[in-house]
Amino acid sequence: MNNGAIYLSGGMEKAVENGAQWRREVSKKLEELNFFPVDIAALDLEYIKKHGPVYLDTDPKNYLQYKSNIRHQFIYTDLRLITDDCDAVIAYYDQSFKDGAGSFAECQCAYDHGKPLFVVSALPHVPSWLKSLSTKLFFNFEDLYHYLAKLPDDILKADRYGNHSSQNEYLCSLCGNVFEKSKHHFVSKVSPLLCIKCVDLVQNTREKNADRYQFISEYIAPIKDR
Ligand SMILES: [Zn+2]
Repeated sequence: MNNGAIYLSGGMEKAVENGAQWRREVSKKLEELNFFPVDIAALDLEYIKKHGPVYLDTDPKNYLQYKSNIRHQFIYTDLRLITDDCDAVIAYYDQSFKDGAGSFAECQCAYDHGKPLFVVSALPHVPSWLKSLSTKLFFNFEDLYHYLAKLPDDILKADRYGNHSSQNEYLCSLCGNVFEKSKHHFVSKVSPLLCIKCVDLVQNTREKNADRYQFISEYIAPIKDR
């Protein structure tokens, strides 16, 4: 058994060779670390071998057919692979990520479904939104490998209660560090799952600032239905 299936997210449409090269290299390393890489670029080649390309027709008059194919064969498929078949996501943030839209959607999907998200950036500036979706951010793959190698077995997988644990160790969703829970383990889903230090940070956020959503929703409520 491996330590979890990890989806490799990053540019395809605007990337060299569909982003196959970095995925190949990362996959090899993940296998050495006993993770199961889900390399969508390589899997697409397997699909094409058996069934041929999903779409080729970019004639503007067949636009809706093209759109329907993209919706089903890419948007639905890739997001479902993350939610149903993978335990975590590694996203490679580079120019081809920025030029497309799918990778960002995959990162948001991982976050929304409580899947650990590790962003590796080739660029010095990472947008705050993406940075904040990530469980942990790296600026090179070596640092990511080093981090993954030190994770306790199976911690990327959700346990029977839906938490990322390995015995009495848990993965903090805000800082990405592993923390220990003494005595009992959590017997219900804790979301977000936080280490003690991060509990304080979240408490500051929620209790020391007026809530922006609450303010705006209350502000627009009396005027939006006028
Ligand atoms: Zn933490």
